[in-house]
Parts: sequence; C-alpha cells; structure tokens
Amino acid sequence: MKHDIGLIGLAVMGQNLVLNMANNGFSVAVYNRTTSVTDEFVNDLPDRPEDVVHSGTADRIDGYHTVEEFVQNLKTPRRVMIMVKAGGPVDAVIEQLKPLLDKGDIIIDGGNSEYADTNRRTEDLRESGFRFIGTGVSGGEEGALKGPSIMPGGDKEGWPFVKDIFQKISAKVGPNNDIPCCEWVGEAGAGHYVKMVHNGIEYGDMQLICEAYYILKHTLGLSNEELYQVFKEWNEGKLESYLIEITRDIFTVKDPETGNYLVDDILDTAKQKGTGKWMSQHALDLGVPTTLITEAVYARCLSGQKDARVRASKVLEGPEVKFDGDKKQFIDDVREALYASKLVSYAQGYVQLDAAAKEFGWKLNNGDIALLWRGGCIIRSRFLQDIKAAFDKNPDLENLLLDDFFKKAIDEAQPSWRRVVASAVNNGLPVPGFGAALTYYDGYRQDRLPANLLQAQRDYFGAHTYERVDKERGETFHTDWIRER
Ligand code: NAP
Repeated sequence: MKHDIGLIGLAVMGQNLVLNMANNGFSVAVYNRTTSVTDEFVNDLPDRPEDVVHSGTADRIDGYHTVEEFVQNLKTPRRVMIMVKAGGPVDAVIEQLKPLLDKGDIIIDGGNSEYADTNRRTEDLRESGFRFIGTGVSGGEEGALKGPSIMPGGDKEGWPFVKDIFQKISAKVGPNNDIPCCEWVGEAGAGHYVKMVHNGIEYGDMQLICEAYYILKHTLGLSNEELYQVFKEWNEGKLESYLIEITRDIFTVKDPETGNYLVDDILDTAKQKGTGKWMSQHALDLGVPTTLITEAVYARCLSGQKDARVRASKVLEGPEVKFDGDKKQFIDDVREALYASKLVSYAQGYVQLDAAAKEFGWKLNNGDIALLWRGGCIIRSRFLQDIKAAFDKNPDLENLLLDDFFKKAIDEAQPSWRRVVASAVNNGLPVPGFGAALTYYDGYRQDRLPANLLQAQRDYFGAHTYERVDKERGETFHTDWIRER
C-alpha cells in the first residue's frame, strides 16, 4: 500500500506531525537522515500512550532507510513534507528529492524557514516543474501532535493536494470546534512571512506580560500567590489567552529541591532564535514602525547583558519606588495598559503585513490570518476573534486602531495606560513595550509631527530639500540656510 504523504525529518516537530496525520487516518511514510532515529520512532509506536498513538495509527506509519525507497512508496502526485533544520538542510533535502520526484509532485517545507528562502524555492521549483509549499507551523510539540496553527503559502497549484490533510490535522475553533486554523495564505513566501509576524507578535505579547509582572511586583510588591490571582482574573476577561494562562500557572510552581517558587530562581537572561529579529529587520527595510516588537527584541538583548547590568546597578542611580494609591485600581490600570499595548502590537504587525504584501504582490486576507492564529499556536486568544471581526467588517482597514470596536477599547483604556507608564517612569521601572506602544499611539494620532524641523536640518546640512504645506505634494524646495540666517 502506498502512503498518502511522506515526511522527512523526525525530530520533535516531525514526529508529532506524523502522529497527528496518522491519528487522523492518513498513512505516512517517514525518513530521517540518521536512520536509527527512524527505527526508534517506528519501533516505539506500539509502546506509546493511547492519547498519543491512537488505535490503528502505528499500522499507518512506515519508516524507510533511503530517500529512494521512501519516494517509491508514496501515492502520486507525491506529497513530501520536510521538517528539518531551517536553512541549508532544507535545500540539501530538496536537492536529494528532485531527481527522484516527477513533475507535478508537491514538496512542502514546514520548518521555520525565512520567507526570502521560500520566495526563492517556490520560483526555482516551479521552474523545475514541482509545486512547492512553504508553510508556517506553530504550536510547538503539543500543537504539532494535537492540532497546530498552519500557515501555508507558495505555489497555489499545490494547495488542493494538501488542503484536506492540513485542515484535518490543524487546530479547530468556533462554536462547534470545526473551523480549521489553516487556510491558504498567499503566493511564494507569504506563509512563512505570516509565521514570522506571528512569532514577532509572540515576542511582543510575552514582553508586555513580563512588564505587567515587573510593575506589579515592584510597585505593589505582589507575591507569587497574589500574581497568580491577578493573572487568573485577567484570563477570565478580555485578555484571555494561552500566554496569560501559562503565566498564571507559572506562579504556582515550586522547585522541589529548594522549596522556592521556581520563577524567582530563574536567571533573568532571555534567549532568542531570531524570528522576532527577522521581523524587525524587515520592518526597517519596509520603513514601517513596528516599534513594540523591535523593543521586545531589544529587551531580550538587554536582558542578555547580565554581567554588565549587575556592574551598572552598583553605579547608576534612579528613583526609589513609591506607591501611595489604590492597589486594586492600579492592578486594573495595569490590565488596561497591557490590553491597549497589545492592541498596538497587533496593529503594527498588520501594518507590516500590508506593507510586505504590497512589496511582494501578495493578496493577504487579514481576517483569515487572525483566524489562523485563533487556535493551536502560542498567541491564541479571545482577542483575535475581535481582530477577525474588524477585518471582516472592513477588509481594507488601514490600521486596527481605527476600527470602531478597538477605538472605543483604547479610549476606555487610555487613562489607565497613561497612569501606568507615568508611574513606571517616575519609579524608574523599565517599560519598553508599554512605552513604545503609547508613543506609537500618540505619534500615529498627530496630524503634525516635528519632522518639519528634521527636514529643515537635512536641507541645511545636506541640501536634501523639503516639501511645503502650502504647495503641491512632490514639489521640492531648497534654502540656503546659512545665507538666510
Ligand atoms: P530541528 O532540531 O530544527 O532539526 C532536526 C532535524 O533536522 C533532524 O531530523 C535532523 O536529522 C534534520 N537535519 C538537520 N540537518 C539535516 C541535513 N543536512 N539533511 C537532512 N536532515 C537534516 O527539529 P525540530 O525542532 O523538530 O524543528 C523542525 C523545524 O520546525 C525547524 O525548522 C524548526 O525551526 C521548526 N519549528 C520548530 C518548533 C519547535 O517547537 N521545535 C516549532 C515550530 C517550528 P538528523 O536526525 O539526521 O540529525
């Protein structure tokens, strides 16, 4: 019997996706460069728990030791999913596959590839007669097994051949739990671009939650038990999300060895794999102000300078933290500041998506993208339903902040948001995310910014010219500033 699909790369993501596919009734051929990994995976299937390997699943998975055998055992047109380390290994596997596949076969890259690589691979493989799909897969190990968020892009001709499998294995949302978090995103690298933006937004969400924690801990001195209660309540309202939920639970975990709350014993240096940075780098290339996510990347960088910070902390002075207000009101204020800042982060993410779509000629459906992130992935939240509604109401919405629902939400949150940022600044507590969000909001709503002066400076020292408010746009002027002084 030939298999419905083949998967190459049996590390954690690959294995769990294979199980998900087979649990959903698809037969899967598997191959891994190191053959012992394939053997171990296949041989261990019968010993794994029933909720991981459903009844009949083991019979639907066959391992192969050569790529040739693996390819020969696939139904045509062949569907081959690659789940190896991003970068060179993906190209290496594609090169191995090319001589063995027929024209019209479908190659899927489900790793965290850079969108520019996916742009290139889609084009190259189209020229060679193959249909290439570059898809973002989010949700980590558990998502891959139980239902990830899947963001496919590439050669649209390949989509009908994988749609059924992908939509079956993806997370589901909606009142009947039947709306798949998987829909065609767009041409070439669009799927991986959307995954990159998803990861950037994840950086932003995490940073904002960490700032809320830091403010509550250092301004009010909340204990871990109290923080648990605050996050529990937040997760029952408009902030309900996976990240708030896991943060709530983190505050309950004690280290069995020391008896201390584990969170307090964790070194404060954040690591990163780079997808947040990719988003910020491309934001700069596009000239769009994705400030919050970039600040979130920088915040991780600053956290990494632990030794330097420890040295500086012994030298540099700041104000003493003081609080004499209403504790309950302040906690509510922080919740509102978090909500408003999060909204700005998503608004910026969508502005970048629109700019990228324009740059690459993709037709992105912003509402569908919100739906893809509603389940299965790290940024899943109630809030994404409201974003979907905003884009469904107006698919050409220029900025989420201009949607009626969100405008009202920001109006309500604004006094709290300003109080929290002001309190943090006065108390010397760093709030790069909250601050960047509020500064963007205030900048975006100004019809006149100080860039008139900036243009005058540029013209003064570099004769870069300027436009005038009282003349046609595009008409440029230059002044000999030294002579005119
Ligand atoms: P990984 O650690 O990124 O990659 C390991 C896999 O790549 C192994 O199967 C390895 O084979 C294979 N590999 C590496 N170089 C190769 C080469 N030159 N030729 C053939 N195979 C090669 O695995 P992962 O964590 O499961 O992630 C897979 C992809 O999904 C990555 O792109 C990752 O960024 C992405 N992703 C990961 C997560 C996550 O939570 N881990 C979430 C979403 C997306 P050997 O066994 O022979 O070394």
